[in-house]
Amino acid sequence: MRILISGASIAGPVLAYWLVRSGFDVTVVERTPTPRKTGGGHAVDLFRPAMQIVERIGVAEEVRAKATGTDALVIHRPEHKPVTLDLRKMFTAVSDNHVEIMRDDLSEILYNTTSSDVDYIFADSISAIGDDGEVTFEHSPAQRFDIIVGADGLHSNVRTLTFGAESDLTTWLGSYLAIFSVPNYLELDNVMEMFVEVGRIAGIYSAAHMNDARAGFFLRPPKPLDYHYRDTEQQKRLLRNHFGDMSWEVPQLLAELDRTPSFYFDSITQLRLDTWSRGRVTLVGDAAYCPGPAVGGSSSMAVVGAYILAGELAAHVGDYAAAFAAYETEIGEYVRRSRSFAVASAKMLVPASRLELWAMVNAVRLINVLPAPVSRAAARLNAKGVRLHDSIAVKDYTASDRT
Ligand SMILES: Cc1cc2nc3c(=O)[nH]c(=O)nc-3n(C[C@H](O)[C@H](O)[C@H](O)COP(=O)(O)OP(=O)(O)OC[C@H]3O[C@@H](n4cnc5c(N)ncnc54)[C@H](O)[C@@H]3O)c2cc1C
Repeated sequence: MRILISGASIAGPVLAYWLVRSGFDVTVVERTPTPRKTGGGHAVDLFRPAMQIVERIGVAEEVRAKATGTDALVIHRPEHKPVTLDLRKMFTAVSDNHVEIMRDDLSEILYNTTSSDVDYIFADSISAIGDDGEVTFEHSPAQRFDIIVGADGLHSNVRTLTFGAESDLTTWLGSYLAIFSVPNYLELDNVMEMFVEVGRIAGIYSAAHMNDARAGFFLRPPKPLDYHYRDTEQQKRLLRNHFGDMSWEVPQLLAELDRTPSFYFDSITQLRLDTWSRGRVTLVGDAAYCPGPAVGGSSSMAVVGAYILAGELAAHVGDYAAAFAAYETEIGEYVRRSRSFAVASAKMLVPASRLELWAMVNAVRLINVLPAPVSRAAARLNAKGVRLHDSIAVKDYTASDRT
C-alpha cells in the first residue's frame, strides 16, 4: 500500500518511521530544498508520552543529547528587580519525562532515522489530489497513492486542498509572536531573558549546541493586526512600531531585524476542525489540530498523533476509513483538552493589565519558593491542566507490529 506524507518536520518523519515498520511503502514530500538543519527554528517540548514514542523509535539518547539545557527564565520589568524562574523545577512538576529541543535538531534526528527506508522528495509540494488518489506535484511527475497525509503544519497545503480555506477553520487567540535569529551577544548559555510590560514581551535565549540566539516577541493588541502573511517587510515594520519605544535590550534586538537570516511572524491561532479525514486523505500534527503555536505543547501532540495514526493503519491492515475513524477517536480527547489548555495559556502568556503582570511575577515567586515535592504534588492535583500531556495514555501499538 502506497502512502504519501506532505511535510518532513516532526509529525511526518514519526509517521513515516512507524508506517515503514508495518510494511507500508512511504513517500514524503517536503517544500524546503533540504532536510531541516538547525539555523532557524525554535525550541519545542516533548513530554512523557512523546518521549516514550521517541524511546520506542530508538532515538531517545540522541534527543536528550541535543536538549537545549535552558534551565532559568529571567523576567525583567521596568523599575523592578528581575525575578528568575527555575525552569527545571517547573518542568519537573509538569512532567516526569520532559525534553526541550530545537525543532530543527529533532527534525534532523527523525529524518536521519528514516531516510534509508523512505522516499523523500525535497523542494516540491502537492498541487492537486484526485478522488482516486492521483496526486500532482508542482515539479515531480504525477503519481497514484492509496493514502495521502497532510503533516505540513499549521498552514497545511493538504488541508486547504481537502477542507478549504484556513480562515474558516481557525480562531485567533488574541496574540502574535515573532521569532528570529540574532547573534548571541549577551553570551547566554542555559538561560532565557525577557522584558515584560502590559500587552507585550520581548525576549532572547540561546541553547546548548547553538552558536547564535533567538529573539522572541509577543504582542497582545486590543484588536487584530492588519498585515499580509507573506509580507515579511511589513511584519518587521509592525514589530518596530509596536516595540520601538521599549527599553532593555529591545533596541539592539530590533536592530538585528535588518540582518537576521531567519524571521518568523504569525498570529497565535487555534485550529478548530472536528474531523481530520476526508476520503483517502487525513491530517496529523499541527496540520490537523494545532492548539496554537507556543501555547499548547503541540510538538508532543504531533509525535503522539503520528504514532497513533500509523498504529491504527497497521491494526486495520490499510482499511483507511476504519483506521482514520479509530485514529480520530484515540486522539480526540487529547486534542479537545489541549485546545482548552491553549486558550488559558494564551491568556496568561502576555499580561493584559498591571494586575495580570503582578500575578505573573507572583506566580513565579511562588513556584520558586515551594519545595519541589510540594510543587509536584500541587501539579498532580491539576492533571487536566499543567500535567495535561503526561496524563495522556497512549496504546502500545508495537505489540501488534507486523515486522
Ligand atoms: C514560534 C513558535 C514557537 C513554538 N514553541 C513551541 C514550544 O515551546 N513547545 C512546543 O511543543 N511547540 C512549540 N511550537 C509548535 C511546534 O513547532 C509545532 O507544534 C510542531 O513543529 C508541529 O510539528 P508538525 O510536524 O506537525 O508541523 P511543522 O513543524 O510545522 O512542520 C510542517 C512541515 O511541512 C512542511 N511544509 C509546509 N508546507 C508544505 C507544502 N506545501 N508541501 C510540502 N511540505 C510543506 C514545512 O516546511 C515543515 O517541514 C512553536 C511553534 C512556533 C511557530
